[in-house]
Amino acid sequence: MVIKRTISSLVINGLLFTLLYGCGGDSSDEVGFTKNVSQERQSNHVKAFFFGTGPYANPANDGCIGARARWVSFPVGNIIEMIVPAETIDNDYQFVVEEMDKINTAVAGYFTTMVVQSEKNDLTSPKANQITFNFVDRDGMEKHCGSAGGGGCIDMGFQKEGDHLIKNGTSYYPIDRGIFDVHEIGHGIGLCHVNQRAFPEGTMASESGSNIPSFSDSELAAINVVFTSGMAVGSTEQEFWDAGLIP
Ligand SMILES: [Zn+2]
Repeated sequence: MVIKRTISSLVINGLLFTLLYGCGGDSSDEVGFTKNVSQERQSNHVKAFFFGTGPYANPANDGCIGARARWVSFPVGNIIEMIVPAETIDNDYQFVVEEMDKINTAVAGYFTTMVVQSEKNDLTSPKANQITFNFVDRDGMEKHCGSAGGGGCIDMGFQKEGDHLIKNGTSYYPIDRGIFDVHEIGHGIGLCHVNQRAFPEGTMASESGSNIPSFSDSELAAINVVFTSGMAVGSTEQEFWDAGLIP
């Protein structure tokens, strides 16, 4: 079973944001979410990233993929190919290599990414353990992302064992707008959005119109603490709390 879900970058209307924030968006009654309140800044980053909860989460668009209340990512031990199209310019290729080096350091061998440049430009049918980049025009953005003016999107596939285990991802970036970042690839390894108003730093806090290309040090620290925790992908937020990971 392959589950497809598309995450799009959205421009968030200020009024809408206020209303949703005012309603609280409390999801702690769902199974697996903790009702405990974390006190530490890194815990808030971890909760936003991995569960879409806490004060750093984006209540209007948490950007989470796959299973609710569970840590979603690639299975342990896998080698993930990050495939850029033939048309990729050298600077963009080098950017992806540098960002994936940061991710490899942060995940500390839980899985390993390697950057591959394809001989093709159409990379819309990835195999297992592949995340592809596709540069598309406005029609392509409309077709794949549901909006011609967005900053990018990614279609996710999951393993048959469940939608906490990522199988592959197909990302789309607008070729005509000069937007190229690792935000969609962040979703591709299972990360949710960070609310730009709460913590405006790092690519997972970027929204349309305020493109942040790279992972920040604090994002990478939050990734590192989870991937080196001894917990397994699929663990619930409550299990993170019980293990002392989000004090
Ligand atoms: Zn996003």
